Amino acid sequence: MRVSAMLIPTLREVPSDAEVVSHQLLVRAGFVRKVSAGVYTFLPLARRVLEKIETIIREEMNRQGAQELLLPIIQPAELWRESGRWDVYGPELFRLQDRHGRLFCLGPTHEEIITDLFRNEVKSYRQLPLLLYQIQNKYRDERRPRFGLLRGREFIMKDLYSFDRDEAGLEVSYRKMYEAYSRVFARCGLKYRVVEADTGAIGGHDSHEFMVTAASGEALLVYCSSERCGYAANVERAPATPAPEEDTGPPRPLEAVATPARTTVEEVAGYLGVSPRRIIKTLLYETEKGMVAALVRGDRQLNEVKLQNALGVLRLELAGAEAVARATGAPVGFAGPVGLGGVPVVADPEVMKMRNGVAGANRADTHYVNVNPGRDFQVATVADIRVVEAGEPCPRCGQPLEQARGIEVGQIFKLGDKYSRALGATFLDEKGEARPAIMGCYGIGVSRTMAAAVEQHHDADGIVWPASIAPYHVVVVPVNSRDEAQMGLADSLYRELMAAGVEAVLDDRPERAGVKFKDADLIGYPLRVTVGNRAVEQGEVEVRERRTGHTHVTTPGELAARVRALLDAGHL
Ligand code: ATP
Ligand code: MG
Repeated sequence: MRVSAMLIPTLREVPSDAEVVSHQLLVRAGFVRKVSAGVYTFLPLARRVLEKIETIIREEMNRQGAQELLLPIIQPAELWRESGRWDVYGPELFRLQDRHGRLFCLGPTHEEIITDLFRNEVKSYRQLPLLLYQIQNKYRDERRPRFGLLRGREFIMKDLYSFDRDEAGLEVSYRKMYEAYSRVFARCGLKYRVVEADTGAIGGHDSHEFMVTAASGEALLVYCSSERCGYAANVERAPATPAPEEDTGPPRPLEAVATPARTTVEEVAGYLGVSPRRIIKTLLYETEKGMVAALVRGDRQLNEVKLQNALGVLRLELAGAEAVARATGAPVGFAGPVGLGGVPVVADPEVMKMRNGVAGANRADTHYVNVNPGRDFQVATVADIRVVEAGEPCPRCGQPLEQARGIEVGQIFKLGDKYSRALGATFLDEKGEARPAIMGCYGIGVSRTMAAAVEQHHDADGIVWPASIAPYHVVVVPVNSRDEAQMGLADSLYRELMAAGVEAVLDDRPERAGVKFKDADLIGYPLRVTVGNRAVEQGEVEVRERRTGHTHVTTPGELAARVRALLDAGHL
């Protein structure tokens, strides 16, 4: 295409509402525009990138024997009632009504629809295994849509569902997807880690996440410093090893002390002159089963996913000031497990080891010292409910763990028979007996992958697309578009590149060369071909690599072959 005819609205200014680099650059480089919170228009350049990613995904899914189909976005509430998710999915589900008052939702995921298809259309073990997938918009009314495409409310996902006869079959399908996902992200030019993941609300018993490592990532992961071990997990999932408690002598008598206006762990520790690890941090949560108090050591972070799993609840929200006051009789900051009537207590194992600790006294401006679990308060549950930290021992081999941030671009789950049982999706086995299909589900965030690529591949001047997913490979820039000789040569080189199978654009706009170079860098074409006076007069054409800034000088006659060779070398 000629750039003069293309819709590429680049901006010099950083959009004020864009917090992360991918959002800033994708807006500035003319790839996306926000329509509403978490809802975006993909402009022509973005559409091309998405298509590249989708093509890679399709090739890798098909290589594993998967078949593409297309399921509806509008899903009837009845199916969600059958699976039990209509009531538990909560406010993230976009719900709507038709003119007859029938309820529907916009699909956030498609387990119900695909399981319904299976129960209606698949009868025999001979038809298994089945791997079915689609690439389509998904809808989730996220509590906090943010970071541009990274957390949208409308986004593009590839979702695949596997149906097998038994667990052994599921294991095979799961391995296939694990391999396919690894290939997809590698082919997209991304550095990623595969981590063990929590299975969360979707249910199931085994799961991995594919994390693109990036400082802006919302996910926190830990991995073993020993490469031979290879353990890696989302912190939501990684088990913590309780650290030994420091010796604080024999239990002393419980004592209430004044801690005026000291509400945080740091303030209380500073005021009483003890280390934060001596404090029993008490957090009150509201759940559908009522309020609970969760205890972790003062220097630790509570892990809400672990807490949710330990309690077996679907809803978990930090209690507000009013609820805290009602339960404890004190303002926020003075809650503690001693004398906290009627609120069940969940404690991390480290708390149970503490001797002579400090805890809120459920009275304004007061804490207890010399708190001893078991003697001074009872707990309903002891469970690992804290976040693992860097430097702690690997749960597999004991070597220190390291920490990194990541963007979850894909997740694979073993679902088992959760949905097939709920919806009655059975097949007849060799003996003619009906058995529920054993399922897996596998998602890739296509639009999130595009943004993750920008998070990982950019510099001060703009995006640096990996060639495999770049919107175009090459931009041909005549230095002076008004110079007929330059324009003529640039145009013929552009045509030759196209004829050689190179995806090229010609920046024929009557702009200064500096403007065109800046846009080329911002948009992130892997290669820029510059056609100036030297090209016309001396036959010297310059090819510049976006990533390294390295330039190659060649002749007009050799340009297409040179560009092809650079692209085929695979390092762009
Ligand atoms: P997250 O934990 O980030 O909310 P999730 O675990 O709920 O994601 P899945 O249900 O596993 O997401 O969906 C599969 C994939 O879809 C994710 O790995 C991610 O790449 C993508 N995805 C999920 N939610 C969003 C979103 N709000 N915006 C863009 N992509 C998303
Ligand atoms: Mg996920």
